[in-house]
Amino acid sequence: MKKKILSTILAATMIAACLTGCGGGNAEAPAAAPAAEEPAAEEPAAEEPAADEAEAPAAEASGDLADKKVGVCIYQFSDNFMTLFRTELENYLVAQGFSKENINIVDGANDQATQSGQIDNFIAEGVDVLIINPVNSSSAETITDKVVGAGIPLVYINREPEADEQKRWADNNWDVTYVGCDARQSGTFQGQMIVDLGLEKIDMNGNGKVDYIMVEGDPENVDAQYRTEFSVKALTDVGMEVECLSDQVGNWQQDQAQAIVANALAQYGNDVEVVFCNNDAMALGALQAIQAAGRTVGTDIYLVGVDALSEALENVLAGTMTGTVFNDHFAQSHGAADAAINYLTGAGNEHYIGCDYVKVTQDKAQEVLDMVK
Ligand code: BGC
Repeated sequence: MKKKILSTILAATMIAACLTGCGGGNAEAPAAAPAAEEPAAEEPAAEEPAADEAEAPAAEASGDLADKKVGVCIYQFSDNFMTLFRTELENYLVAQGFSKENINIVDGANDQATQSGQIDNFIAEGVDVLIINPVNSSSAETITDKVVGAGIPLVYINREPEADEQKRWADNNWDVTYVGCDARQSGTFQGQMIVDLGLEKIDMNGNGKVDYIMVEGDPENVDAQYRTEFSVKALTDVGMEVECLSDQVGNWQQDQAQAIVANALAQYGNDVEVVFCNNDAMALGALQAIQAAGRTVGTDIYLVGVDALSEALENVLAGTMTGTVFNDHFAQSHGAADAAINYLTGAGNEHYIGCDYVKVTQDKAQEVLDMVK
């Protein structure tokens, strides 16, 4: 079932830099990218590299993966989504032939200095490949230089380094890639779920506009920037007028979002028609605040998140969340592991490996819940 998701959902997109904010930035449509290479077959054909891979180092037998050491840096273990991601990543690496004891996954505790020390340790230890979810995407240049300098292939996940940084990998033909989904798509899907309700239903205060509050993830993270911008852009693109009542940073955290939304509801009351949250953890916090304020999602307010956490899907099914967007941690973790294997076997990778988000409204929630459970 999970593999089916991977093969049906994996596709490619390319990211270009863009800004965000309550007022919205100048949005550029996502640039279409050539289809990504399918991730390596589960058992990489070892002995005979294809002719077009002649420059690649000698491939190794898949059985040799058991001896390979993988270092995995996660920005913060307590992040709900990254917990799903790292659990699936470890399981999949083991299923591909790595030994569990050779997979070392460490917690950056949301501190770049801590993570940089962990990367130094992995280099000193001589790991064969590194998979890194950076604490700060802006540290990618330093991280890349270190890791490439040590001759270790590198797979970035979840927090996409900037376009200039990605260009360096291509220009220098380094064994460095990024595996992730295009966050603009997730924002667009959030906005479209609101658009599909129709202005008449949303505009309860009758001012002709969609009055919303935005709860953002870590502002350094491109996922937060793009979701903030593209969710609203989906409304303005179809000619809806919008009014941003409040736009605050909840750092991906449920408790922070709960406080933000409680305050916004106290301040703006029934004028708040839509709550956009950059992820589901924050949407769950928003829902607590909405219910505490005596409001009812689907009746007098609308709420959307991203990730498709089980709890959020249950709420979408029950109608207590308007919708979410499936952030496919299966495709991303499998893609990252496959990319690591491709480096180890000498098959190599494109420098960007993308995947698609999936819009989840009530009619689709059970199907997605069955996949993620
Ligand atoms: C997810 C968030 C998560 C963040 C971590 C995003 O793609 O939607 O839930 O906190 O990644 O970087």
